[in-house]
Amino acid sequence: MLTKLRHSRPIGLARYHLYRDVLLARPRRVACNICGWRGRRFLTYLHKHVLCPQCGSQIRHRLVAAALDLPAVASRLNLAGTVLHLSPEYCLGLVFRRRARHYVRADFRASDCDLRQDATRMALGPGVADVLISCDMLEHIPDDRRALAEFHRVLRPGGTAILTVPQSDTAAATLEDASIDTPEGRAREYGQPDHARNYGADFGDRVRDAGFDVSMIGAATFDPAVVARHVLRPPVPLRAAWGWNDRRIYFAERR
Ligand SMILES: [Zn+2]
Repeated sequence: MLTKLRHSRPIGLARYHLYRDVLLARPRRVACNICGWRGRRFLTYLHKHVLCPQCGSQIRHRLVAAALDLPAVASRLNLAGTVLHLSPEYCLGLVFRRRARHYVRADFRASDCDLRQDATRMALGPGVADVLISCDMLEHIPDDRRALAEFHRVLRPGGTAILTVPQSDTAAATLEDASIDTPEGRAREYGQPDHARNYGADFGDRVRDAGFDVSMIGAATFDPAVVARHVLRPPVPLRAAWGWNDRRIYFAERR
């Protein structure tokens, strides 16, 4: 009976709120620039102290939100049009839903999306989206070049894809080896058992090859106080060979 009670939903929720709203509440050193939560530190998810306990945002999501506040970025995105969010994260939905005129969520599997589709064979006509968002999705797709070609096809001329992928901090070239074909091998070489590669600094070239003009921002774009406040870089870097500490946001514009 006691075990049942301890694992019940009300007790679970009470523990969550005790942790989030009391134990993590002060001092308010960090703030989520997406949901507004403020507290002592974020939660640990892969990296220490990076996950917002309220909206689930991680570094890449908060970097996207911070980028949208930069006039040079905001002026180039047509958020008043159709925004297509692939493999949509709840936290980024909070960012784009309130800005977009038409906000469309699409996913390969999830049933609570507007569209169910494979990113390499999208069920959309050409030139229908003004902005496309794909965060940490391409590394799961065996033929990522085909997905990038699809992104290019469904964007209007002048439209922009906002892209993130896990990238090695130090590798210039993407590590992709067809002989690494087991979950254990992928976890060891790429960092996760369901990743098809670990991108290097050449990711932008791969996007350019699909016909896009590419620009990129990272934590270095922002004031160090903003980086520390919103945790736009891991406070405790991960020392694994495959890296992923220095997250970058790519803006791929269709000419
Ligand atoms: Zn948040």
